Amino acid sequence: MSISDTVTATFSSKARCKPVKRNKLVPRWYWAMVSAESFCSTSFDYLILGGGTAGLVLAARLSEDPDVVVGVLEAGEHINEMPEISVPGMMGQALGNPKVDWAFSTVEQQAVLNRKIFSPRGKGVGGTSAINFLVYQRASEEDYNAIEALGNPYWNWKDTFLKYLMKVETYVPPTDPKIAKDPHIGYTTDYHGSSGPVKASFSAWFNDLHAKFMDTLVNMGVPINRDTGNGRNIGASVGPISVDPSTMTRSHAATAYYTPNSHRTNLVLLTGAHVTKILLDTPSGEPVVATGVEFLKDSQKFSVRAKVEIILAAGAFQTPQILELSGIGKTDIFLSEKTFVRTIWFLQSAAPIKSNSVTEDHLTLPFIHEVPEGSETFDSLRDPAFLEQQSTLYKNERKGLLAGSITAYGYLPSEKLFDSDGLTALQNQMLQDTTLTASPSLSKQSVLIKKWFPDPNQAQIEVLQFPFFLSFGPLPERREGKVYHSIMIIGLHPLSRGSVHISSADPLFPPSIDPRYFSNPADLEIMVSAVKFVRKLMRTEPYASAGCKMYDPPEKSAVSNEDLSDDEIRDWCRSRVISIFHPIGTAAMMPKEDGGVVDSSLKVYGTKNLRVARIFCFLPAVDASVIPLEMSTHPQAAVYAIAEKASDIIKTARAR
Ligand SMILES: Cc1cc2nc3c(=O)[nH]c(=O)nc-3n(C[C@H](O)[C@H](O)[C@H](O)COP(=O)(O)OP(=O)(O)OC[C@H]3O[C@@H](n4cnc5c(N)ncnc54)[C@H](O)[C@@H]3O)c2cc1C
Repeated sequence: MSISDTVTATFSSKARCKPVKRNKLVPRWYWAMVSAESFCSTSFDYLILGGGTAGLVLAARLSEDPDVVVGVLEAGEHINEMPEISVPGMMGQALGNPKVDWAFSTVEQQAVLNRKIFSPRGKGVGGTSAINFLVYQRASEEDYNAIEALGNPYWNWKDTFLKYLMKVETYVPPTDPKIAKDPHIGYTTDYHGSSGPVKASFSAWFNDLHAKFMDTLVNMGVPINRDTGNGRNIGASVGPISVDPSTMTRSHAATAYYTPNSHRTNLVLLTGAHVTKILLDTPSGEPVVATGVEFLKDSQKFSVRAKVEIILAAGAFQTPQILELSGIGKTDIFLSEKTFVRTIWFLQSAAPIKSNSVTEDHLTLPFIHEVPEGSETFDSLRDPAFLEQQSTLYKNERKGLLAGSITAYGYLPSEKLFDSDGLTALQNQMLQDTTLTASPSLSKQSVLIKKWFPDPNQAQIEVLQFPFFLSFGPLPERREGKVYHSIMIIGLHPLSRGSVHISSADPLFPPSIDPRYFSNPADLEIMVSAVKFVRKLMRTEPYASAGCKMYDPPEKSAVSNEDLSDDEIRDWCRSRVISIFHPIGTAAMMPKEDGGVVDSSLKVYGTKNLRVARIFCFLPAVDASVIPLEMSTHPQAAVYAIAEKASDIIKTARAR
């Protein structure tokens, strides 16, 4: 029996089952009754394309006004109770399941041995927030301020992000005395929310090596940071996760923003509705006006109109896909001799990438090691008896591994990775790199990245302790009966840039995702130094005597002190690197002349109302695709905050 089957079986055993909290106001059958026909005959003010992380924030906030009618079109389904989604200790197990994951792949990535890299995306109500790893972290103040520096007034830490990050969350410090007394946890109320929809709290289970990992980082000169939420994320920390501590179930966009508001009659969600095109009116000589959308449900084509706005929230891969399918892009896209999409909206840009859809992503390397016999990691759940015991413990007391998650993080500046010669060499390499000045957007971004590189307060690498064998890439087989930890090494400010485009006029055909991983050699060199840092960590006390054994990459030799050469590490990086799934920037919020796709009010350039008074459609995009530059952390909290601010912008525009 698989882990999912066992946990599901334990959940559905009526004698012992405590039901997960559900909004009693809404009968289960209610929304199932919304048909595509009745949806299309509704007079909507706003249509939101994608019921994911950002989309559901907008749906909840815009429908607060009972006079406004909001429709949400979501391609996936609304799955209420799926352990792979709700149980924190089952994170990652929904990946690849076509019911809830689009399970995309990149095109072959030349600089990583022509491998295609797995690129999951949440499908269904809640989107990627329902299948992610629950890490709920904030970046450094400078990362948020960079969005303003790139041409977006007030999109900074003080005026926007701190305020909205606090609005999103209800932060609950640990109540379990064993965890509460962890010397690494602490927080200041000044920086955290107490009444927001998303619950942020802590794992109920700390793995055997948690404290050793933290103490080893300290012994390597990484200071403890007891609260990374204050705009300084550098240091070793215990991170919050998106979990409701009263049930120890995942808190995600559906549970936080949709379920509590699903009784509103002015909020209508249609699931299984795949948006294929935005309907545009192009009065001659005028900017483009979005009037409605076409979508497929059960293979049938429908169209629906919106009176005020159509808001794209289909995520970093599918927002640009829908734009291009609708004919919005920088240049015509030739799909084959016979088919091409003639774009009606052009931008002047010197960018070498002919794209309105430049993407960047965080890459990661899983550094896997065997942990000593008797240690418990998520791999231990492969033992049926142990799994049964843990399922019962979770169900009855909301404790144990299934109530657990990732706990320990280190955000490291470059001074922890390079000696002064190495630092200078890499800085010089960045300065001489002409690709960084070739496009106006990357040129401005690279000024910031170069400035941050030697800054001791700006993290370049994150190391986080995943208590299991992480296997999305080409890894050696795990040894029978052994359990593992993976220290994930994440490059935080990549310089490589790629693109996302349609590759077929068929809207059901996946977009062509080409992030061009490691195309900038500096990204590889930073990873090489980070691998050396983690190998050193394995040999530093107290980790050194914890009884762990390097597994991948392996020890060079069990007897000699000789270590892998830089070239051997480079080869290993190329063969192992995978995405940690943080694509952004495909509809970047930046000035038009810098290659931006949306302005600082999130409106797509080139689209505007000029039709009839009171009937006007702007076309904003609100999701991870608008973030112009990777931040030094995981993005979900920022996506929620951006959607909260977008809701206020849209409400203010309506009130005028
Ligand atoms: C496996 C994984 C682990 C991650 N772990 C973390 C983590 O631990 N912490 C963190 O901060 N971040 C994490 N992330 C990233 C983070 O979750 C995402 O960046 C964020 O949730 C994206 O939100 P979004 O609103 O941009 O898109 P989404 O939440 O993906 O929403 C897009 C929605 O649009 C729908 N849609 C797409 N196309 C169409 C269409 N044509 N018609 C109708 N609907 C459509 C989708 O089905 C989806 O519901 C992870 C991502 C993945 C994939």
